[in-house]
Parts: sequence; structure tokens; C-alpha cells
Amino acid sequence: MSDYTMTIGGQAVAAPGTFGVVDPATGEVAERAPDASRAQLDAAMEAARAAYAQWRGDESARRKALLAAADVLFARSEEIGRILTLEQGKPLSEATMEVVGAGVWLKYFAELELPSEVIQDDERARVEVVRRPMGVVAAITPWNYPLLLATWKLGPALLAGNTVVLKPSPFTPLSSLRLGEALRDVLPPGVLNVVSGGDELGAWMTSHDVPRKISFTGSVATGKLVAAAAAPDLKRVTLELGGNDPAILLDDVDPAAVADRLFNGAFQNNGQVCSAIKRVYVPDALYGDVVDALAERARAAKVGNGLDEGVQYGPINNRPQYERVGELVAEALAGGARAAAGGGPMEGPGYFFRPTILADVPDGARIVDEEQFGPALPVIAYRDLDEALARANATNFGLSGSVWSADADRASEVAARLDCGTAWVNTHLALAPHQPFGGFKWSGIGVENGPWGLYGFTEMQVVHRAKN
Ligand code: NAD
Repeated sequence: MSDYTMTIGGQAVAAPGTFGVVDPATGEVAERAPDASRAQLDAAMEAARAAYAQWRGDESARRKALLAAADVLFARSEEIGRILTLEQGKPLSEATMEVVGAGVWLKYFAELELPSEVIQDDERARVEVVRRPMGVVAAITPWNYPLLLATWKLGPALLAGNTVVLKPSPFTPLSSLRLGEALRDVLPPGVLNVVSGGDELGAWMTSHDVPRKISFTGSVATGKLVAAAAAPDLKRVTLELGGNDPAILLDDVDPAAVADRLFNGAFQNNGQVCSAIKRVYVPDALYGDVVDALAERARAAKVGNGLDEGVQYGPINNRPQYERVGELVAEALAGGARAAAGGGPMEGPGYFFRPTILADVPDGARIVDEEQFGPALPVIAYRDLDEALARANATNFGLSGSVWSADADRASEVAARLDCGTAWVNTHLALAPHQPFGGFKWSGIGVENGPWGLYGFTEMQVVHRAKN
């Protein structure tokens, strides 16, 4: 049995079976989650379809409900934060902040204008371009920021008048299940349905005939499967996928002045952020100082159980990811890289990994070319800025990147040459609800957040009224 229930048509629903949810700080199963059957997914889709007709018709009720949902998250942030720490590993303060952030996102969308534009109004016709909801949205989320990323979808989808079936990652289903429970009294039945299960549940959703839109956040490999599954029915898709974000330091940078921000940009959430800094390019002359400054911070970082006071970084979320990060680091070291800090897993149970700074990483190392998504950062020397830019852009990823300099104008010119969805200057990971977020190339299709994110949950309709 599980203490957590799915939400289908406003009701608490247990599944025929359950699956274990591991606490990454111990490596042991800490809870069980419902494993939805196919019939239960059908029921969730039908509930969402049934709720759509009324929900789409009352914009002011939608806004009120979203504001009330945000208030629930603010009020229950610590309780839900504890669940998030248990299943995800992040420190309780950050987990609580994630829940608050999820509320902030819902509030932003509750108050966002639904755009419409009169493009002609003369003696012949009045022509207006408006946005209409699509119907049922299938929302599929990953394990790094389960709640925040869920609300990036729920806020705009619900505001636009759609109804939703949400499926969290099997590694972190509990906080989303609790979200569904918490909102049962706030949203009309069927408007938000939350189901949990394994990866195959996601595949059932993307090939299901009810949803008109799939909003997916996860890996590139799964994103391609989602796009292929959506194609036969021409379902609309938004794909928020992986990144291999470069940070390029220019030659006038003061390593001591930027080290904290660089380190945080790479190690926030233990490096498990799609748009975290995943490789740093440093001019030859500054290389030693930058490596030392980052290594010093890595050594000082307090890693431990997210429920313990003062812990800054928790474990890696799950065993496959823990093994993958370990492999990429071990391979780089075997290929000639040097661990300026860390370099491997920590002793004891749980998926703890020492914050790792890798210097002298040879070209072609997988930790440079692939997305490591964990607490290990390669620092790479460069001689010529054009060459650094070419290396930064020589990837199928294109989520974000940053350029660092004492001269922000100069850095902005360099940032404009990065092929990616967000180009930061002297910062990294600065995200906000009004700021569209998405990737070039394999990092995604479409964007989330801001009015542009809202458009992704609408169809454009032209209302052309003849006047004679
Ligand atoms: P993943 O692709 O393994 O899983 C993501 C979700 O997809 C999970 O809910 C999973 O159950 C589901 N899924 C798996 N197979 C499926 C299928 N065939 N059809 C439909 N759904 C399926 O990703 P992950 O390991 O959970 O997350 C890490 C990845 O997510 C990283 O690559 C990271 O960069 C990326 N990410 C991107 C963003 C962004 O906004 N761009 C944000 C966070 C994470």
C-alpha cells in the first residue's frame, strides 16, 4: 500500500500495484507510489476531457483557482518540501524554496493577460487574432525539479483553458502526487489529474488519442521518442530537453570576483539542472587561478543528507545517474584529466559524490561532449576566443550559455554568438516566470514561461467578421 494516491476526476485513486521510491540519501526504498494501470490512465484522460467544456468557458474562475492553488503551495511549502527532499535529495531549504517557487509561477500565470489582437477594423471587416485552448494536455516531468517544472506547465496550460494529466518521473512521484491531493479542493474535478507509474506510462500518454498537446521536460533521447509518438496524431509538442551549457571567461575577468557565481551556476541542485554550467572555457593566462578558485569552493562544499542542518548539496538523485557521473569522471581521469577537487563517490550508503573540478581535460572526453548532469565540472583552457566560441557551439545541444567579463558590453557581443536559447552575461541560471526558456537544436522545441510559453498551450484563431 502507499500513503500517496493519484488524483483522477477529483478523487483519490489507488492503483492495483505500487513501485518503490528510493531515498537517494540512503539508497533504500522509503515510500511506495501507485503504479497506474492503462485503464486508470484512460479514466484520467476521460476526466480531463469531461472537465474541459466548462473549464474553458470561465476565465475569471480559472484565474481565481490558480491564485488559490498558489496559496496552497505557499502554505504547505515546508510539508511538501520534506517530501521533495526525501525523494529528490536536495537540501530541505532548497526543496521548500522549490515549492514556494512553484507557487510563484502559478501566481504569475494567474495574472498573465491572454493576448488578442485586432489586426483590421475598417468598413470591410473586423479581424481579430485570438488564442484558444487546445483540450487535454499531457504533462510529463523529470526528477530534478519535479514540482517547479510541473507548474511551468500547469500554470499556462490551465490559464489558457486546457485541462491536464500530469505524470511525474518514477524517481520523484511523491511531491506531484501530494500536489494533486492538495489541489483537489481548489480545482474543479478533472481539471488536474495526477497519475504515477514507470516510463511506459509516459509512452501510453504520448500515444493516447485524447491529449491534443504534450508538454515534455526530460532527456534528448526521450524527447525524440515523444516527438515520434506525437507525429501520427499531429499532437502539438513542447520539448524542454538537455543542455551542455558552456561558460566562457574573457581575459579581463577577475577569477576571485566570479568564482562564487560560476560555482553556483555549475553546482546548483548538485549540477542536476538542465541549464547548469557543464563546461568552463578559460583563457590560458587565467587558467590556474580559475581552477584553484573553483576547487577551493568544491572542497568547502558541505555534502550530506538534505534533511541535516547546514547541508548545501545532497546526493545525486538516482543510481543510474550516480553511476553515469562516476563513469564520466573516471573516464576523464583515465584519459589524462586531473581532479583539482573531488574525483569520485563518497564512502557509505546513498548516492553521494564529491564535488569535482576536472582540470586538463583532453579534447574528446565524454564529460565535455555529453551532458553530465551531476556534480562534476570540466575546466578547459583556450588560447583564442574564436576557437573557444567554436568549441562552445560545436554540439547538438543549445539550451543556454554564459560569457563572463569585467566589460559587460564586450561580453554581450560574445554572448550574441552563442547558439543557444538563453545567453547570460556575468551570471548563469537566472530564470524567471516572465522570461521565455527553451533550447536551440536538440535542446528542445518551443519555450516555456512568459506569454511565449502561454502561446504554446493555445491554438491561434482568426475571428473574421464581415461588415457588409
Ligand atoms: P527522462 O527523459 O529519462 O525522463 C523524463 C520523463 O519522461 C519521466 O517522467 C519519464 O518517466 C518519462 N518517460 C520516459 N520514457 C518515456 C517515453 N518513451 N515516453 C514518454 N515519457 C517517457 O529524463 P530524466 O532523466 O528524468 O531528466 C533528466 C533530463 O531532463 C536531463 O537531460 C535534463 O537536462 C533534462 N531537463 C531539461 C529541462 C529543460 O527545461 N530543458 C529541465 C530539467 C531537466
